Parts: sequence; structure tokens; C-alpha cells
Amino acid sequence: MEEENKNNILVIDDEPANIISLTHILKDKYKIHAAKNGADGIRLAHKYMPDVILLDIIMPDMDGFEVISELKNNAETKGIPVIFITGLTNVEDEAKGLLAGAADYINKPFSAPIVELRVNNQVMMQNYIKKIEELSVRDQLTGLTNRRGFDERLRSDYDRAKRNQAYISVMIMDLDKFKKYNDTYGHLQGDKALQAAAKVLENTVERATDFIGRWGGEEFVALLSDNDGEHAKVVAERIRKNMEAIEIPLLTDGSITKITVSIGICSGIPNADTSADIFMNNADSALYLAKENGRNQFVLYDWGK
Ligand code: GH3
Ligand code: MG
Ligand code: MG
Repeated sequence: MEEENKNNILVIDDEPANIISLTHILKDKYKIHAAKNGADGIRLAHKYMPDVILLDIIMPDMDGFEVISELKNNAETKGIPVIFITGLTNVEDEAKGLLAGAADYINKPFSAPIVELRVNNQVMMQNYIKKIEELSVRDQLTGLTNRRGFDERLRSDYDRAKRNQAYISVMIMDLDKFKKYNDTYGHLQGDKALQAAAKVLENTVERATDFIGRWGGEEFVALLSDNDGEHAKVVAERIRKNMEAIEIPLLTDGSITKITVSIGICSGIPNADTSADIFMNNADSALYLAKENGRNQFVLYDWGK
């Protein structure tokens, strides 16, 4: 398997011989990171976000129970399955480990096939979870992030903009008279137009800090981080023009159909009077004005600084 496609495993053990032997068992299938003490282990867990952590219990300074408690109390690392791999073989310690949130418990001296199989089990589950998480935020028709995924991103980007006192712009984009498009050409053709619109957004909103999603129906959303209203206007106009320019062939006879979009924007630096929801509401009001004013245009609600 390609090195970069391998799942990551973190081994935390103060005994170098154990690290060597676990690495030997797992290195063909997995990318291995190792730490010789709890504090380094926690640091590497944040750095590499491993799929599984193999954790020793008896270690100087921080023992395995302290390490797992810190990992499970942190939002970023609490989902990583931890397998204790330990010389403490009595059932009380095993129960204590599982109670602390461990996914599994392996006794030392360990057997290579048991280690491998139990790690495989946890990795398989992690891969399922990642897949489900990915599907839960993806819109099937367009491949864009769905409303749920966009909402998460909106909250984190908004909070960051507030912390850094930086600009953020949100845009709501609604296709014009799309009911008529559907009524005229049929729902399947409508779906094709939505896919074409999504492509335009993907190709137009290109910066790494920009984010787009399908809000639902024929409504799309964009988030522009570190962008003031003036920049958002430039992006909105580019979207409007590119949308107007696309030619969507009819499924039936290939003749050309057209769509346009209206855009509501809210830009500004978050302050005590604003929230992510208020930004979205203002963008929605701006969109309403764009529709009122005749569609195929944008309106900006600018909070400024
Ligand atoms: P306006 O310019 O005011 O936005 O008018 P509109 O017709 O676009 O707005 P309206 O909200 O009345 O209609 C939206 C239409 O979008 C209705 C629905 O048939 C269509 N639509 C929503 N989701 C989908 C979808 O997934 N596929 C297709 N084909 N059409 C959809
Ligand atoms: Mg709509
Ligand atoms: Mg519409």
C-alpha cells in the first residue's frame, strides 16, 4: 500500500524494545509513530491524529490511565480508539482501562497475531466511522458539502474570525425562477442544472479559505474567510457572470438552456452584536432584496468593522 494511504498508529510505551517489536508487527500495513512517554504521546496524538493508539500503562511520570483520561477529555482526540497493551494482567486493571474509555486491552507478553488482529478491528471501525462522517456532510446530487457540513464550518470559521477580529463574508445564492425551469424541462433536467451550478461555484470560488455548500433545494452557500465586503462583491459578481454564461444542454435534444442566480451577502468583522446566525439572516434579507430588485444580481449587507 502507498505510504500516505496507510492508516496511522501511535505507540506510547517507555520500553524501547516494545516499540521496536510492535513496529515490526504492524509496519507493513500501517504507518507507525512512537512516543516514549505520556506527554510526548499526547503531543503526537494531536500532531498525527492516529487511527489507533497503543498505550502502555506503567510508565514513569504520566501513566497510561492519566494519558487516556487526557485524550478522552479533549474534543480533538477523544474519538481515537485506545488499546491498552500492558503487563497489568488482573481483571480490575482491565476493567479500569475499559471504564476509562479504552477500546480494547491486550496483555503483555503479547502475541503478534493477536496484536495485529485487534489493531485491524479498530482500524476497520475507524475507517467505517470516517466514511459515515464523510457521507453525512456530503450532498449526493452535487458532491458539495451539505447544509449540516456547511453549518459546522460556518460556526468554526465565524468563531475564528471573531477571535482574530478578521473579516468574514457569507453568501446565500438562490437560482432564479428555478421552479419554472423544472416545470418547463422536467425534474431530471433540473437536477442536471443544479449539478452545472455546483460546478460553476467550485470553479469560481477557488481560494483555500473559501468554502461552498448546498444549503438545500436550489440554494447554495459560500463562506469567504478574511474577506471584506469589497472582495465579496468581486467574487459574487464573478459567480453571477459565470452562472449566466453556462450553457446547459437539454437531456432530450441537446439544445441550450440557461440559468441565473441571485446572491445575498453579509460581510463584516464579528462583534458583540453579531452571531453566525445573524450573518446568515442578513445574507438572506440581502438575497430577498436581490430578488425584489429583479434577480440575476447581488446585494451586500455590510457590517464593516
Ligand atoms: P425565485 O427566483 O424567487 O427563487 O423562484 P424559484 O422558482 O427559484 O423559487 P421557488 O422556491 O418557488 O422554487 C424552487 C424550486 O427548486 C422548486 C423545486 O422544484 C426546485 N428544486 C429544489 N430542489 C430541487 C432538486 O433537488 N432537484 C430539482 N430538479 N429541483 C429542485
Ligand atoms: Mg429558494
Ligand atoms: Mg430560486
